[in-house]
Amino acid sequence: MRICRFDEGLLGVVDGGEVVDVTGVLARLPSQTWPYPPGDLFISHFSELRSAIEEAAKSGARKPIEQVRLLSPIGNPGKLIGAPVNYKLHLDEARADSEIHNDTKILTIHECGVFLKANSSLVGPGEGVVSTWADRRIDHEIELAAIIGKPCRNVSKDDALSYVVGYAIGLDMTVRGTEDRSLRKSLDTFSVLGPWMVTADEFGDPSSVDFELKIGEVSRQKANTRDLILNVADLIEYASRAYTLQPGDVIMTGTPEGVGPVDPGDRMDCWIDGIGKMSVSVRAA
Ligand code: MN
Repeated sequence: MRICRFDEGLLGVVDGGEVVDVTGVLARLPSQTWPYPPGDLFISHFSELRSAIEEAAKSGARKPIEQVRLLSPIGNPGKLIGAPVNYKLHLDEARADSEIHNDTKILTIHECGVFLKANSSLVGPGEGVVSTWADRRIDHEIELAAIIGKPCRNVSKDDALSYVVGYAIGLDMTVRGTEDRSLRKSLDTFSVLGPWMVTADEFGDPSSVDFELKIGEVSRQKANTRDLILNVADLIEYASRAYTLQPGDVIMTGTPEGVGPVDPGDRMDCWIDGIGKMSVSVRAA
């Protein structure tokens, strides 16, 4: 099943080239009082809502997908977890680049671990990326994103994938420079998730998935998740030793070689096998 959020926060099921409005199902979510429990409320209850969503999708209003504005499939994200230099060839290019620019030494993911991006940076493809700090170089990073479905802590990699509710395309936008990653990758709109969430049962094995990012006709990044240094299961094991993972937490699994600059007016055409295509425009602040 493919779940999206669109227009003014409606809930949709993607069926071929159309979005079916199933927003009515959200009335089944429990009412809450402050303080709210951790995690995204919809993702927390997704498994109970699933059959109602399937039923609603049989009769809901339909719109061609190109006529809707796609939002992040996660409405209330908690942690956005990033995996730095998690492909060997990207580590090589990052090290070569840091020597040229006299930046801080690039550590391996085993040395520096995972990092967090501010959840306020998360947008959907229809919202686009704003090139804040335009006097600095801003890079694209396409990544397979795994979305956590159930609370978990100290998960073994053998069990890890059972905690994933679905997958999406992630863009981990980055200002180049010496500041901490948690700053450079957390500007508003610098985390893009979409175009929808493909449920884990439909997506299948995340360990050998082709993906590509193009700008215009130029292929900038083209790789396969088999070349991840820490794969999706390894990352869940690693991250859950540090923090309790909550429903709606997003793990951006790292970007391959080919990162490069974007400018206002560019459109990033992203594709991951088993998810589909996502186009994201860059505009001036
Ligand atoms: Mn990244």
